Amino acid sequence: MGLDLIILGAASATPTSNQFTTAQLLKMREHYFLIDCGEGTQKQLRRSKTKFSRINHIFISHLHGDHFFGLVGLLSSFHLLGRTAPLTIYGPPKLKDIILTQFRAAGTFTSYPMHFVVTQHKVPQVLVDTDAYTISSFPLKHRIATTGFLFKEKPLKRTLNKEVADAHGIPVCDYHWIKDGKNWTNDDGEEVQNDLLTSDPPKPLSYAFASDTMYTADTAEYVKEVDLLYHESTFCEDKKARAKQTMHSTAAQAATVAKEAAAKHLLIGHYSARYADKSKFEEEAKAVFPNVFAARELYQYRLEHSGIKIKSLAPEKNEK
Ligand SMILES: [Zn+2]
Ligand SMILES: [Zn+2]
Repeated sequence: MGLDLIILGAASATPTSNQFTTAQLLKMREHYFLIDCGEGTQKQLRRSKTKFSRINHIFISHLHGDHFFGLVGLLSSFHLLGRTAPLTIYGPPKLKDIILTQFRAAGTFTSYPMHFVVTQHKVPQVLVDTDAYTISSFPLKHRIATTGFLFKEKPLKRTLNKEVADAHGIPVCDYHWIKDGKNWTNDDGEEVQNDLLTSDPPKPLSYAFASDTMYTADTAEYVKEVDLLYHESTFCEDKKARAKQTMHSTAAQAATVAKEAAAKHLLIGHYSARYADKSKFEEEAKAVFPNVFAARELYQYRLEHSGIKIKSLAPEKNEK
């Protein structure tokens, strides 16, 4: 169990020779979710060896190019690769028109059904609700309509101890009830208590993605006690005035949101290209909130209750 977050791009504004703009892949309960899709996202997906076809949901925070200029290319590749599975794209109102205009102008169509769900930028909104998880959007404060996204696992059923179940001769068809917490009664009317047959399941985990935004106390309210918060930190404290003017955040402001939300871990990114050394972001955030990581591209952040494990997914240098 656990959530895996792969950082595909962590830069703001423009891609550079060695940096990509915002895109992340979240793996939750066997499902793949793409969050933002900056230019070059599909190349990064390939480099991270992610199976494209497993992405059935794409979430776009806002319509600044550094968050969605890779989308039409990715959608087109899905078509060229012969995808047939439906794809749902969640994003601001004009996203559908932008994408469909491009496809129409090229006289093309997609081999798969594409659904668009419009996000609200003024109120939180539940976008997906299944037995396994809920995904919702929440408002952010940026120059144009922008939302963050909150991914929450739902509690699992109790974990069956198969050895104990076998020792009592419990048939497989009764497992379902036992995992729901019910006691089991044998043919002689003897009851076996559920706590002998099962143990507590792993606690659900949650991830919040707060893309471009200036500091606002509301963000902490929307992501209260989240296990992992990604919050943009475009600037360091030396450019605090610039952050305010462009409606972005500093590393210390991102850390303030994490602290106010009582988040367990903070991941920062969306770095301005004017900073060659990224360690300053981490340093400034750490002074406010200790449990911080600076997002690095093509790294996987595995979130478990015990903490975060970080692994590089970057291909070997001689690998094509
Ligand atoms: Zn941006
Ligand atoms: Zn933006």
